[in-house]
Amino acid sequence: MGMTIFERIIAREAPGRIVYEDDQVVAFHDVRPQAPVHVLIVPRKPIPRVGLAAPEDKLLLGHLLLKAAEVARQLGLSETGYRLVINNGRDGGETVHHLHCHLLGGRPMHWPPG
Ligand code: 5GP
Repeated sequence: MGMTIFERIIAREAPGRIVYEDDQVVAFHDVRPQAPVHVLIVPRKPIPRVGLAAPEDKLLLGHLLLKAAEVARQLGLSETGYRLVINNGRDGGETVHHLHCHLLGGRPMHWPPG
């Protein structure tokens, strides 16, 4: 399997508007934003989807969520709120097979989601 587009963005081999990074995760703006703020928080480790995460990924998954909340704060969404989404598999709407958490904000979200 070749590198996913997210691995290429993380490696700076493809362009990405990075808003946060550390040794475990990278966050960048989605190229096709579905809300005024749409950022993807991505582990550097190329886990294909949350359903394939292993017990050893426990701390990484916790870190991913904590950093999603931190990026939301950094982007001024704490007061108004935001939504975090992880799509898993075909029916979940997963299109890039590298685990990522969507951070959506800047407008009211609908429920149930589409
Ligand atoms: P999924 O459907 O897998 O949950 O989400 C994949 C997301 O990646 C989509 O929202 C899509 O717009 C975004 N995406 C796909 N290709 C690129 C790219 O090359 N750059 C960026 N920044 N986002 C991308």
